[in-house]
Amino acid sequence: MQQDDPHITLITPTAPVAAKTHGGRAKCLQRLVRLDLPVPRTVALSFDAVHQIAAGQMPDMGDLLAPFGNAALLCVRPSSEDPDWGGPGAVLNIGMNDAVHADLADRLGKEAAATLYLRFVQSYAIHVARLDPDTFESITHTGPAGLAAALDAYEDEAEEEFPQEPAVQLAAVLRSMARAWEGTTARLLRQAKGAPVDAGLGLVVQEMVFGVGQGESGSGVIQLVSSETGLPQITGRYLSQSQGRDALRGEASLYLERDPRGPSLEELAPQAFADLIEYTKLMRVKLRAEMQAEFTIENGKVWLLDGVRVPRSTRAAVRIAVQLATDGIIPPQEALMRVDPRMLSELLHRQVDPNAPRDRLARGIAASPGAATGRIVFSASEAQASASRDEPCILVRRETSPEDIRGMHAAVAVLTERGGMTSHAAVIGRGLGLPCVVGATELRFHLRKKTLTAPDGRVLRAGDVITVDGTSGEILAGAAPLLESAQDDTFQTLMGWADAERDIAVRANADTPADALTARNFNAEGIGLCRTEHMFFEADRLIVMREMIFANTAQDRRAALERLLPMQRADFTELFRIMQGQPVCIRLLDPPLHEFLPHDRAGHRELADALDLPLSDVTRRVEALGEYNPMLGMRGVRLGITVPEIYDMQARAIFEATIEASRDGAPVVPEIMIPLVSAKREVELVKTHIDAVAAAVRNETGQKFDYRIGVMVETPRAALRAGDIAPHCAFLSFGTNDLTQMTYGLSRDDAGRFMSTYVQQGVFPEDPFHTLDQEGVGELLRLAAERGRAAHPDLVLSICGEHGGSPESIDFCRAAGFDYVSCSPFRVPVARLAAAQIAVRDKIG
Ligand code: PEP
Ligand code: MG
Repeated sequence: MQQDDPHITLITPTAPVAAKTHGGRAKCLQRLVRLDLPVPRTVALSFDAVHQIAAGQMPDMGDLLAPFGNAALLCVRPSSEDPDWGGPGAVLNIGMNDAVHADLADRLGKEAAATLYLRFVQSYAIHVARLDPDTFESITHTGPAGLAAALDAYEDEAEEEFPQEPAVQLAAVLRSMARAWEGTTARLLRQAKGAPVDAGLGLVVQEMVFGVGQGESGSGVIQLVSSETGLPQITGRYLSQSQGRDALRGEASLYLERDPRGPSLEELAPQAFADLIEYTKLMRVKLRAEMQAEFTIENGKVWLLDGVRVPRSTRAAVRIAVQLATDGIIPPQEALMRVDPRMLSELLHRQVDPNAPRDRLARGIAASPGAATGRIVFSASEAQASASRDEPCILVRRETSPEDIRGMHAAVAVLTERGGMTSHAAVIGRGLGLPCVVGATELRFHLRKKTLTAPDGRVLRAGDVITVDGTSGEILAGAAPLLESAQDDTFQTLMGWADAERDIAVRANADTPADALTARNFNAEGIGLCRTEHMFFEADRLIVMREMIFANTAQDRRAALERLLPMQRADFTELFRIMQGQPVCIRLLDPPLHEFLPHDRAGHRELADALDLPLSDVTRRVEALGEYNPMLGMRGVRLGITVPEIYDMQARAIFEATIEASRDGAPVVPEIMIPLVSAKREVELVKTHIDAVAAAVRNETGQKFDYRIGVMVETPRAALRAGDIAPHCAFLSFGTNDLTQMTYGLSRDDAGRFMSTYVQQGVFPEDPFHTLDQEGVGELLRLAAERGRAAHPDLVLSICGEHGGSPESIDFCRAAGFDYVSCSPFRVPVARLAAAQIAVRDKIG
C-alpha cells in the first residue's frame, strides 16, 4: 500500500482522503490527525475499494496489514459519505487469536485478554459468519469461562475452528461489511434518510487501543453541548474496562464532569478528563462543528477513535449554528446553511415556559412538538362541538383512527393511551402541527366512565383543563404558562441573518386577525393573500350573506350588503392596524355563492325560518344556484361582473377602513386583488367600478388615499394573456392552486383519490398540488412573468398558492424575477430561511 494510493490509504495529514470518496468518518479522522490529536493508526478504504470487495475482489491483505505491524488488534468501522446514512456496525478486536490472547493475558491480565477475545468471537460469529445470534448472545459468563463457551459454540455451529489467521479474519470482516451495505434492506433504510441510490461506503481499518487492562483503562463518548437544547453541557459517559460504546449502555458508567448524581471521570482521572475536554474543544474550533468524540483511555492516556457531528434536535441545530457563528468559528452565512428550513416548523409552536412551575400528571411519548391547553373531550364529535363553541379542547383517545381526523382538526392537542412515534395520532399530529403525546400508559384511561386517573390518584374528567406538552411528552394539570417559541433568542438571531441575506420578500396568507398576528410575529413583510370569503362564514354574517344571495331585486341586495359593509370595514380596519402600514392584499370574493347556502333539508328549513320564506322557495332557489362544475362556474371575477354590488361593497369597506386605520396609524395603501381572471376586459370592468367607489369615498370623506389593483393569475388564459392584462394593474399574483388544477385539468378536491397511484406509477414525479410543477405550470408562470413585465416593467410579481412556502418554489420564483412569495403564517420562517440559503448559495457559487 502506498500513502498516495487513492483507494487504500494510510491516513496521514496529506494522504488523498475525501468525504466524497472515502466517507465522512475517514475525512474526519484525517482532520484529527492534522490537528496532531492522539488518533490510532488508521487505513481508509475508498468507496470503490469497498465496492470491489463486495463483488469479491479483495485487496492484497498483506499490504493492508503491513502498516499495523504484527501483533496489533484492529477494528473496522463504516464510513459513509454522510454519517446520518448509517452503515454496518463496527467490528472490534480483529486479529485476536489464541497466540495473541496468550500474549495479552501476560500483558493485560487473563480477565482483560479473555474479554477482548470473547467480544471478537461473538461479533464475528453473529455478523461475519452469520451464526445464530441467540447462541452467542446468551453466553452469560465473562472472562475465560465465557471465552471457552464462545469458542466451543463457534466450532459446533460453524463446524470448523475459529479462524486464527488475522488476514483471513480481516478479509471476512471487510467482505461481510461491504456486502451488508449493498443489501436491499440497508439500501432502502439509507434512501429513506435521503441517501442517493448509488451512495458509497468507505471503511476504516484502525489499530485497537485497549479499553481494558492495566492502569485506568476504559472507553466513552463525549460532547460539549446538549443534543436536546444545544446549550453548553458536557454530555456523555465513561466506563472503566470497556470498549466501543459500552459506556452508553452500562449501568456502572461514570459521568464525565463532576456530578451530584454519582462518580465521574473528572474525579477518577483528572488529567485524562482535562485532556479530553481540551481535545474536544479543539475539534469544535478546528473542525468548525460541535463534535461527538468516541474515546478510549489506555493506562491513563486518552485516544480519540472517532468524531461525528453531535446528534441534535432542531432547536439544538439552530443554537449550535448560531453559537459557532457568534464565536467567530464560522461566518453567519454558513450558519444559515446548516439548518434545514423544513425542520424549523418544529420550533414554531408554542412551548411551555421552561421557567414556570409544572404540575405534572404523567408522561408519555413526545410525538408532535408544541404545547396547548384545553378541556378534555373523549370523542371526535365532542371535539368538533367544543371547537364550534370556540372552546379549545384536548382530544383524548385510546388511539386514533381515520374517523378521528375531523376531531383532531378541531382539537388543540391530542393525547392517546397507546401508540408510538409512527402511530396514526403521531403522524397526523405532526402533519397538522398539533401538539401530541402518545403512549401515555402512566395514566389510567376509563373511556366509558370518561375519566383519566393519574399515578398520584388524581382523577380527571371530561371538561377538566389540562396542558399537553408534545415537546417533552408531559401532561400537566391546568393551564401552564405558554411561550411563543419564535421568541427564542438564537432563532431570532438566525432569522435576522437570513433576512440580511435573502433577496426575495416573504408575505403571509392571512384571513383573520389571529393569522395576521402570527404573520407579524414571524416578521412577514405584509399579507399576500387575504381570502375575504372566510369573513362571511361566521354565524351572524352568514345569515345576512344568505339574505343577500336570496334578494330578488338589486335594491334588496344593496340593503343586505349595507348590513355587511360595517362588518367588512371592521375586519379590514383590524387587519390594517395589526399590519401597521405593511402591505395587505385583499382578494375580492371568490367562491361560488351557493357555497354559502345550507346543503341539507334541516338547513333549508332554518333558512326558510330566518328569511320568512316558504321552504319550497328556499329549496328551489338553492337548487337553481347549484352548478354542474362550480369550480369553473359562477365564481371569482365572474361574480364581480354579474353581481357588481358585492365587489362595490367590498371596495368601499376597504377604502373606509384605509381611512380609519391611517387616521391613527401608519398610512395604508391597500392592494385589491381580482380572482379567477381570464380576460383583459374583466379587469377593465372591475377596475372601473373600483375606481368609481374610490372617487365616491374620497368625495364623501374629503380624505385622500392610494390603492393598487392587481390580478390573480389562476387560469391558463390569464397567464398566456398577461401582456394584455398587465397594463391595467399594478401586480400579478399567481394562484398556483387553481392554476395547477386548470393546467392539468385535475380537480383539486378529487385528485387525492388517484394521486398516490399516479405518483407510484411515475406518471407524476410528485403530487403537483404539493410540489410546484416547474415544467408545465412553471412554464406558464415564466411566460406570464415575461409577458407581463414586457408590457409593464414595474409590474409586481408574486405567488400566493400553497406552493409559495416551499424551498423549491421559492428558488423557482426568485429565478423568474418575482418580488415576493406568500405562504401560510407558520411557513413564513421556513420561507425566510430557504430564501436566504438560495441567495447565499448563489453568492458563494
Ligand atoms: C389559488 O388558487 O392558488 C389560491 C391561492 O386561491 P384559493 O386557494 O383560495 O383558490
Ligand atoms: Mg384560487
